Amino acid sequence: MSSLKNITILGSTGTIGVNTLDVIARHPQRYRAYALTAHTRIEPLLEQCRHFNPVYAVVGDEAAAETLVRQLKNENLETQVLCGAEALEKVVSLPEVDAVMAAIVGAAGLRPALAAARAGKRVLLANKETLVMSGKLFMDAVRQNGATLLPIDSEHNAIFQVMPHDIGRGLEQSGVSKILLTASGGPFRKCTTEELARVTPAQALNHPNWVMGPKITIDSATLMNKGLEVIEAHWLFDATPEQIEVVIHPQSVIHSMVEYIDGSVLAQLGNPDMRTPIAYALAWPERIPSGVESLDLFKVARLDFEVPDMHRFPCLRLAFEALRRGGTAPAILNAANEIAVQAFLGNRIGFTDIPRLIEETLSVMAIAEAANLEDLVAADQAARRKAESWVEAKAA
Ligand code: NAD
Ligand code: MG
Repeated sequence: MSSLKNITILGSTGTIGVNTLDVIARHPQRYRAYALTAHTRIEPLLEQCRHFNPVYAVVGDEAAAETLVRQLKNENLETQVLCGAEALEKVVSLPEVDAVMAAIVGAAGLRPALAAARAGKRVLLANKETLVMSGKLFMDAVRQNGATLLPIDSEHNAIFQVMPHDIGRGLEQSGVSKILLTASGGPFRKCTTEELARVTPAQALNHPNWVMGPKITIDSATLMNKGLEVIEAHWLFDATPEQIEVVIHPQSVIHSMVEYIDGSVLAQLGNPDMRTPIAYALAWPERIPSGVESLDLFKVARLDFEVPDMHRFPCLRLAFEALRRGGTAPAILNAANEIAVQAFLGNRIGFTDIPRLIEETLSVMAIAEAANLEDLVAADQAARRKAESWVEAKAA
């Protein structure tokens, strides 16, 4: 029987964070929430501190920290409060921490995820933007520091589950011919381009199968989420763009598949509930109950598959192109997308402006080599400025 494992959860108040705590709460003899982090929403973090009594709680700034300290003191809770980006890096690197759930959304999650890899931890990676921005750097950090990387994204977790375990020799030598990355197609799968142009944030925030944070929900509606996942799969499994095929599967029951050279296709199925990949990654190579309901195949009844339409959903094409161009292109794609999603949610641009803004940003910016973190952060910042000026011009 394994001993108690200390877990740091980056982004504990988000959808993935809350699901992680749900799994941890089912196994108090196995896991302890050691450090929890939130950005601005103090109330849910305080509630989590009451429940899980972590050693550390990290918040975004001094004002939030002061508020939380006062509230914890009122209730005689002993959690230590830290704040800022350096504190995030501290709570992933502490020697007593066994595993880190990297579930901050967006580029903000990169530095602490990288710090966890550099500290040689078991890294449960939900923050796909880390691999999109800095795949090579991150994978190198994992290998050089003996970290264990377990994907949380349901598709990549599925692929990991059905992939041969030693893929160190490369996909072909391991007998894999391709990865079949499934996508729900989002709420607008059947919409025409004209209908897409009129989509509102409220409609886009209403995903048919999954409950997720706002950013990834919009990414799912534009298919940028799948594009980011193609890049994520490239780095995780050393797959070329040609070895990754996107399959629209509206039921979200098959979470992805791997095809082998002998014609076998292995799939991982389950209800669309992130507690399955979270429990898998926490306990790997063992299995533990996750709280997820048993899959009722009779209720599912049928599984459908469609080819993705890159004309109506250009974000998927843009992501493939950025992956092929390499260097800083994926980081620019990611930064422009973050600005575009924010602008769309703020009603400053339309739904079909999202791919336009990204394509425009990619076309005007020089693509450089992504040799180190500083280059990537500089490309990210420059792309944000470009994208922001596009939004301002559009809104004016
Ligand atoms: P969310 O919006 O629900 O939660 C985001 C979390 O990050 C919150 O705890 C928030 O406090 C924190 N955060 C936000 N900005 C921050 C900043 N600047 N600094 C520090 N912390 C910050 O998002 P989510 O849906 O839980 O997704 C988290 C990550 O997991 C994303 O990268 C997403 O793509 C990935 N992911 C999510 C799902 C899902 O089902 N929700 C599935 C696959 C992958
Ligand atoms: Mg996914």
